Amino acid sequence: MRDREIRNKVAFDLDGVLIDIHQELVNNIRDQTGCDLSNHTEYSMIGGGVTRANFDMALKRIYSNYKSTIIAEGAQELIRKLWEKVKEPIMIVTARRAQFATETHAVVCRVMGKVPYCLIFSNGFGNKALYLRDYLYFVEDNGETARYLAEKCGKTIFLISKQYNAGVLHSRVISVDGLRDLLPLVRLFVS
Ligand SMILES: [Mg+2]
Repeated sequence: MRDREIRNKVAFDLDGVLIDIHQELVNNIRDQTGCDLSNHTEYSMIGGGVTRANFDMALKRIYSNYKSTIIAEGAQELIRKLWEKVKEPIMIVTARRAQFATETHAVVCRVMGKVPYCLIFSNGFGNKALYLRDYLYFVEDNGETARYLAEKCGKTIFLISKQYNAGVLHSRVISVDGLRDLLPLVRLFVS
């Protein structure tokens, strides 16, 4: 029965993909320390005048303010279309720490509305591959993670272009401006 083989083969990172907290994080750390970290990913912000305590304080505040977190343009439309096609929960794999599970589920609920989801805390970005076995495509904003998943795990990665991830060159890493660019690919994702 061919119909039964049709599944959703795309999964998503959370921060920088479905939602955007980067500017808030940069602003919060700048207010605390005076350092401008616009070009940093959240994994490279600690050091050079920014302590783990500064970083954690910023994260805690931003995660708690989930009601005002920016939802990426096109995210809800894309999620809805995928759901309508196959009625499968949307897979999200985040490197956020599980201690923030409550706030993370709260913000994901805002994005998803009534669409069911599966939210995995990968405990480090290198582990994301463990949870993506059944997925061919992953949408990511971190350049290093994108390269790793493409090179070591054979995934095709759609990398959301950001000022902190320019210059990732790999045949299976495809840069896109945003999730709207993926709307025409729903047929590919659920083939
Ligand atoms: Mg991310």
